[in-house]
Amino acid sequence: MSETLFTKIINREIPADIVYEDDTTLAFRDINPQAPVHLLIIPKRHIATINDITENDRELVGNLYYVAAKLAKEMGFADDGYRTVMNCGENSGQTVFHIHLHLLAGKPLGWPPYSDKMKQA
Ligand code: AMP
Repeated sequence: MSETLFTKIINREIPADIVYEDDTTLAFRDINPQAPVHLLIIPKRHIATINDITENDRELVGNLYYVAAKLAKEMGFADDGYRTVMNCGENSGQTVFHIHLHLLAGKPLGWPPYSDKMKQA
């Protein structure tokens, strides 16, 4: 699958509220937040879905979680708790085909995280 709007955010071709950057990773605020804090943590290299992660990407993908923990501590919600989610494919509701770790925080989060619109089996 081809590159997405997240490549344009990485290249500063469209604006985003960027909260973290290192050599391989970018984090920015979700444009449609589902919690008081809703960040997206992405690799700069384009990987469309979890299914496209290769052995060479193991360190890169691990860094997404390292950055999540680092931001949680720095932004002050590590002890209160938070959720990380990475959707994959149609049944998950993935809409942007460049892997991204959602980091949600700032309120109690329901579980399981189904939308009311989804019919449960
Ligand atoms: P997903 O449904 O897991 O693919 O998540 C895609 C996320 O990208 C959604 O939460 C969107 O709100 C978010 N999103 C889409 N466009 C932008 C944008 N330009 N800046 C920040 N977040 C965005």
